[in-house]
This record gives sequence, structure tokens and C-alpha cells, in this order.
Amino acid sequence: MSDKPLPTIDPDSAPFWAACGEGRLDLPHCRACARPHFPPRALCPHCHEVGCDWRAAAGTGTIHTFTVARRPAHPGFKDEVPYVVALIDLDEGVRMMSNIVTDDPDAVAIGQRVEVVFDKVTDDLTMPKFQRID
Ligand SMILES: [Zn+2]
Repeated sequence: MSDKPLPTIDPDSAPFWAACGEGRLDLPHCRACARPHFPPRALCPHCHEVGCDWRAAAGTGTIHTFTVARRPAHPGFKDEVPYVVALIDLDEGVRMMSNIVTDDPDAVAIGQRVEVVFDKVTDDLTMPKFQRID
């Protein structure tokens, strides 16, 4: 059992986490305006309509900004420092907070291209993380 704080899975985000468990990065797309959004929510943040369809994202994006955590934000992460927390702009146009998986945090830079990798944290939770493409 992990002693790390884990994301809360609610009805809006359950399809997202289920897809991650199957190795897919799915995004909610509004049925009214067709635009994707993240994090998942009941109301489209663009047009405020209710209802979305889930579609697989390409899983690629660009690092918008990042920070290297050299002290754990929670005791559960003490064995992982230093680790990289980043905002990633997915190619679909949504922004996602995640980790950059790397052996060399000092080589991470804004603007680098990344792709999703899946980290099975528990039997019920697989987290999307990202690694450099080049
Ligand atoms: Zn919409």
C-alpha cells in the first residue's frame, strides 16, 4: 500500500482514471462546442454546456513550466527526490500537471517535447506521467 497522497477519483474524473488504467490518456470533449478540457468536470469551461464524450489524446505535449522538488512535499515522496513537477500543454490544447520521469532533473527545460507514460501506483490507480521524446 502506498503511503503517498493520491488523487481523489470522483464521478467527473472516473472515466479519465479508468482510461489511464488501460494505458490510454482520454480527455473529455464537450458535445456542444467539441473542445477538450481538463481537469474533467460536469460543465464545459468554454461554453458551460453539460455533457462530454471521452476521446483518446495523442499523449504528446510540451513542458509549459516545471519545478524540481528537492525536498519531498509529503513524507510519502521522500524516496523520490529530486523529482520534477511540471505543467504540460498537451497537443489537444489542455494543460495538465504531472511529473516528468527522468534520471536527470537538471536537463529538464521549458519547451521540451514529452510523451505520456503510465505509472501503476496501486491496483486501482494508474497515474499519467511524462518523459522527454528526444
Ligand atoms: Zn463546450
